[in-house]
Amino acid sequence: MTAAVEARARAEFDVEIRAETSPLTQEERRRALRDFDIVVPTLGDAFDEATFADVPEPRCRLLANFGVGFNHIDVAAAKAAGIAVSNTPGAVTDATADIAMTLMLMTARRAGEGERLVRSGAWQGWHPTQMLGLHLTGKHVGIVGFGRIGEAIARRCHYGFAMEVSYLARSNKTPDFPVTRANSLVELAASVDVLVLAVPGGAETRHLITAEVLGAMRSTALLINIARGEVVDEAALIAALEQGQIAGAGLDVYEFEPKVPEALRQMDQVTLLPHLGTATEEVRSDMGQLALDNVAAFVAGQALVTPV
Ligand code: NAP
Repeated sequence: MTAAVEARARAEFDVEIRAETSPLTQEERRRALRDFDIVVPTLGDAFDEATFADVPEPRCRLLANFGVGFNHIDVAAAKAAGIAVSNTPGAVTDATADIAMTLMLMTARRAGEGERLVRSGAWQGWHPTQMLGLHLTGKHVGIVGFGRIGEAIARRCHYGFAMEVSYLARSNKTPDFPVTRANSLVELAASVDVLVLAVPGGAETRHLITAEVLGAMRSTALLINIARGEVVDEAALIAALEQGQIAGAGLDVYEFEPKVPEALRQMDQVTLLPHLGTATEEVRSDMGQLALDNVAAFVAGQALVTPV
């Protein structure tokens, strides 16, 4: 936690703060459910069905997740065990949309490759056809998942880059700028210059991006993923990039995070970020404060601020 969040947690609650940054081990997850009234987990802390089954009479009554995505928590199993779940929506929206734009620009304009060139000392100087990339302004973007983050990305694309915006979601959306709803993922994939993923992870969206979807994309198109790694069939993505079915990818998340396949790491046409979506001091503090707001509400016997 940031210092501000840690200070509040220590002031308001009897708190144990774990110093390690690696995900909780199975034994730590069991202990969390067994020995604490409230746990503030985050992505990678796999509170799956088996973990809840391991602790039949948990002391824990609330998992106040730090993060909007909660695909690492089996919410149905938690509720069956009498444990409520909250998350931190909203606090993460703008920062994550900004990282999507970073990935779009870096991949379209070959910024990672260019930076590596300069650092290598091999740059020979400007010339008219050096490292030509994709001109992003005015292009067509397709957004898969048009919730808080998807809409924030669309807003940036529309107002900042004069892009045409199409989207796929389960329900119809009416933002205050023009967007077109796609009939299917394959139709969306086939029609855009940049396909951006902004759906939640979990069983429903696992491998939403298949070889078929990638095959439908234009050979000049880019795939951007700021959602969850498991949304993309990573092996199919590598094949599509190797075969030139798509021109490039910008990834903040990976199927087997933090493992990033060697094949991806070798490709110049991909931009690889280490899950930076919400990584700013203010945003991580806002997320922590919202998690603690949920904890405080729960302790006071009030309704959760942002229940899952
Ligand atoms: P949200 O407001 O709940 O939006 C999710 C959107 O996905 C909604 O438009 C929803 O459609 C759509 N959707 C859900 N399931 C779908 C499906 N099967 N097919 C098509 N569309 C589907 O969530 P958010 O706040 O924008 O966050 C989205 C996700 O981003 C999070 O769950 C998290 O995993 C990820 N994230 C990543 C980072 C990062 O660091 N890279 C940071 C923050 C969040 P409806 O609106 O029709 O229900």
